[in-house]
Amino acid sequence: MNHNHRNKKDIKIKGHVSRPLILKEMYQQGLHICSGFFGDKRAGDCLFCLEILARMKNEAKK
Ligand SMILES: [Zn+2]
Repeated sequence: MNHNHRNKKDIKIKGHVSRPLILKEMYQQGLHICSGFFGDKRAGDCLFCLEILARMKNEAKK
């Protein structure tokens, strides 16, 4: 039996910045880490960035 189990996470990471810690630091320094505004300065919280941070937290728990 050949279960074709692709790892979507891997593919995503390859296409973008691969260091969750760096992303977290960038966010704390007031920059966007979401794909739409990546690297831009934030004015307040960004829901897209927060979602990415939350997702990284969940993945770290596994
Ligand atoms: Zn953002």
